[in-house]
This record gives sequence, structure tokens and C-alpha cells, in this order.
Amino acid sequence: MSNGIERKKGINHIGIAVKSLKEAGERFSKMLGEVGHEETVSGEGVRTLIFEEHMIELLEPVSDGSAIAKFIEKRGEGLHHIAITVDNIEKKVEELRAQGFVFTAEKPSTGAGGKKVIFIHPKSANGVLIELVEERE
Ligand code: ZN
Repeated sequence: MSNGIERKKGINHIGIAVKSLKEAGERFSKMLGEVGHEETVSGEGVRTLIFEEHMIELLEPVSDGSAIAKFIEKRGEGLHHIAITVDNIEKKVEELRAQGFVFTAEKPSTGAGGKKVIFIHPKSANGVLIELVEERE
């Protein structure tokens, strides 16, 4: 996510799948007391609303075939992924692959904020989709 707050370790943000960015955005805005900013990640088929201070990312599908659309269809709205900060994503992916971790894509792609991201498959993380986000020094 395009985050003014630089975090080098730990949780980068939490992703929540929603049907309507407008409706959920208003609710979260009231809850958090923060105005989010919108960003479309066309590669992933999602529109996001990012609350930087609270490290929360709402995700709305923009196309029926997108991963978020399928997720909502199967499981309904809710917690979608947890993103972890890494400093060198290629190196991290290589290390984790060598240890048997499975990713949802071959290579990192460009996520919100123009950052390099990749997802670890939930089957490699006890049922949780984990996003790695590169934050370079
Ligand atoms: Zn995310």
C-alpha cells in the first residue's frame, strides 16, 4: 500500500474484502476517524481504499473473474490477507521457496503504491493469505 509511514518489519497492513468500497469506506472512515485514499490495482482487478495511519486496506473487486470477487463469492466479505514487510522481496521469495513455501504467482508484481508484492498461498500459512510487501531501505 502507498504508505507514508515507513515500516521495516512486522505487519504492513491488513486487507479486508468488501462488496462496496463506498459503503465500507464510509463505515471504516467513521470507525477510524481517518479518510482513506483510493487506488486501483488493475493487475489484480481490485479497487482499494487505504487507511494509512491504521494500516487497513479495503478491497473491492472491479471484475467478476478477479481473486477478490471469487473470495467474496465463496466466503463472503471479511478478512482477506495480512501483509508483512520485507526488505528484499526476491531474496525472501527464493529463501521461502527453498523451504517449500507455495506462492500464488511465479514472481512479485506491482501492488498499491507501486510497491513490489507477492502472496504466499494459504495452504503454506495455516489458512491465511500472506502478502509480502517490499519496503526498501
Ligand atoms: Zn494488501
